[in-house]
Amino acid sequence: MVFAEQLPEPENAAAGREGGGMLTVDLDAVEVNWHALAHQIVPAECGAVVKANAYGLGLEAVTARLAAAGCNTFFVADTTEARRVRGSAHHATIYVLNGVLPADAAACVELNARPVINSMAELAEWDAFTAAQNWHGGAALHVDTGMNRLGMSAAEAAALAPRLETENHGITLLMSHLACAELADHPLNGSQITLFRELRLLYQGVPASLANSSGIFLGAAAHFDLARPGAALYGINPTPGQRNPMRCVVEMTGRVLQLRSVEQGDTVGYGATWTAQRPSRIAVVALGYADGVLRAASGSGRGHGGAIIAGKRCPFVGRISMDLVTIDVTDLAEGAVRRNDSATLIGEEITIDDIAASAGTIGYEILTRLGQRCRRVYRGA
Ligand SMILES: *Cc1c(COP(=O)(O)O)cnc(C)c1O
Repeated sequence: MVFAEQLPEPENAAAGREGGGMLTVDLDAVEVNWHALAHQIVPAECGAVVKANAYGLGLEAVTARLAAAGCNTFFVADTTEARRVRGSAHHATIYVLNGVLPADAAACVELNARPVINSMAELAEWDAFTAAQNWHGGAALHVDTGMNRLGMSAAEAAALAPRLETENHGITLLMSHLACAELADHPLNGSQITLFRELRLLYQGVPASLANSSGIFLGAAAHFDLARPGAALYGINPTPGQRNPMRCVVEMTGRVLQLRSVEQGDTVGYGATWTAQRPSRIAVVALGYADGVLRAASGSGRGHGGAIIAGKRCPFVGRISMDLVTIDVTDLAEGAVRRNDSATLIGEEITIDDIAASAGTIGYEILTRLGQRCRRVYRGA
């Protein structure tokens, strides 16, 4: 399989010898993660959220792989993404989470994608459109149970339910979204689950969906009929604070361009923010914030960032710049690292979640910003 992100073979091979960073996406691991989540929620169905280019990893590659693995339901943010999913999963059910603005309605029909209806006004508009088109492709109803982002109110959904007997709105899924699923003890989880369970009783025969990745780990009460994991498929820990049950999917490596020695008292990088406390050796690696190595992770002292060089974790020092990062390799054995060696900034040992912690953000943001410039390699494609 060849994907848009991959260069034609000759260029690809040449790029492998050149200096740029490399982002490896392990599609086997994505599939293993999907099967693990699916297994955990049996008999409920497991979908896949592939919005934002599958969290930056490549929508087509991920969708094709998961569709082949048996995933039948995909969630995207908008119709542009729905079009890309349709090209890779011809028979799958596609839900468009951002719903349907007037300009998107025709695309939903053309692509046989189902909008997630987020308000009563949107439902009325969609009803009028589908009636005029004689379209019966279905739609999800998104009910807000405490997130206060998208979705109609619980009261509106409750009032609508009895009318479904006589009015055909083509509702194929009742949906809500958890605000705090990654905080297992948060009281909002229980109240959202309870409210959604009550609403669901009013929608007999309509499948129900509540859980995102972390929601799956809240137990069977959160599973309902269809789960919507995104992050966990891509290796982000859905149970923060506990061992990550998911396989690592992404590896990012860059080349050491130069090794330099600095004296005690010398500073490194823009703003002279780091001062050597001892004679030090610094590896300069060809990855920077333009590759998604967030500047906020610069020599943060939060203790999670850095790179694996010659098998050891070495800290970032000084500011991360656009194309370069400086790493303290003083503690490596003399000669253990050389120019042109590889440094691993993300992988098994330094995870997406570690990087996120060191940059003061979440793994989701790290993933979706990764590797605009890196050469991409799909393992298992
Ligand atoms: C993004 C999203 C998901 C997936 O959430 P993860 O935490 O990545 O598993 C599920 N449902 C909705 C409504 C979303 O917006």
